[in-house]
Amino acid sequence: MNNSLGLYIHVPFCDGKCNYCDFYSIKSDDKEIDDFVGSLLKSISFWSEKLKGKSVDTVYFGGGTPSLLGNNRIIKILNYARKAFKFDTDCEITLEANPSSADNLDFAELKYNGINRVSLGMQSAIDEELKLLGRRHSREDVLVTVDQIKKSGISNISLDVMLGIPEQTKESLIKTLDFASSLCATHISTYLLTIEPNTVFGKERNRFQFASDDLQAELYLATSEYLKSNGYEHYEISNFCKYGLFSKHNMRYWQLKDYLGLGPSAHSLVNGKRFYYPRSVEAFKNNQIVEDGEGNTAEEYIMLMLRTKNGLNINEAKRLYGIEFDTRFFQKVKLYEANGYIENDGNSIRLTEKGFLLSNTVIADLI
Ligand code: SF4
Repeated sequence: MNNSLGLYIHVPFCDGKCNYCDFYSIKSDDKEIDDFVGSLLKSISFWSEKLKGKSVDTVYFGGGTPSLLGNNRIIKILNYARKAFKFDTDCEITLEANPSSADNLDFAELKYNGINRVSLGMQSAIDEELKLLGRRHSREDVLVTVDQIKKSGISNISLDVMLGIPEQTKESLIKTLDFASSLCATHISTYLLTIEPNTVFGKERNRFQFASDDLQAELYLATSEYLKSNGYEHYEISNFCKYGLFSKHNMRYWQLKDYLGLGPSAHSLVNGKRFYYPRSVEAFKNNQIVEDGEGNTAEEYIMLMLRTKNGLNINEAKRLYGIEFDTRFFQKVKLYEANGYIENDGNSIRLTEKGFLLSNTVIADLI
């Protein structure tokens, strides 16, 4: 049994609401943030008792906007977790930060205390697009923040890039990717804009000019082509990295390795069980946990492996999950292969770029 654990900490605070955002995040004052940190420390104690023997090899501060915590709270949480759990010496510790609230951080001190990766919510390098998204930062803010991070000695920097922003064109997207690449980002996560009902975009659809399906497809393929020709490896449907610096933490999700999510709306998979905290600071304070059924199933395995560059290894799937693929499955694979959606080398089945684009349909059909 693998005794490693990824720790995800969901910080539910933001300094405003972006037009597309459906994550659990609220505005708050210092007292509420301190109270939340108190609840978090309690939950760390609770879980470290339950999961004795597990060794943490990734930590991810996500949100919301973890940079709003400021240095002292981030370091306090990390030190507390380090004492409660066993940490691997080469633990990947990522802090998500927003360029609009990163100037309150001292990255050198954070690095000294173990943060070795920063994921920055850039989204676009075009100021008009940032405004349309309701972001509260500019291209210049990204430049300044990345400079501060680099000066601290943290070189593993991930940038988020949004595809399908209203009024985005292939040309404007390439400018954003150019900018990200010129900043020497080691990792780029791309997100295709989805319109959720409870967001400004969802409620005021008519005010915005959203990308058509065709344009979205064009943007996705252009991103992949651009990043690959600039030295990035397309290692997962939405993620690209240089120098093998994939996100170890996110890889845990795709490889169905154990992760513990703490904070409102954080999800977990531990010892084959899924559970989560509801979207409420109050519920988290009361340690209300919702069970969410079995995890690490054969179906999840097939689905997640097909999202990755390495794809689905048939023998591994048999060995780990006892999956017996039938003739119908291989007939479908053959058909998708003939149409350029899948590559099959006899051992592993992988989606092509075109297949990634239609991944939901192809994977659902194969399962
Ligand atoms: S900063 Fe992130 S979590 Fe906060 S509102 Fe914007 S998208 Fe949502």
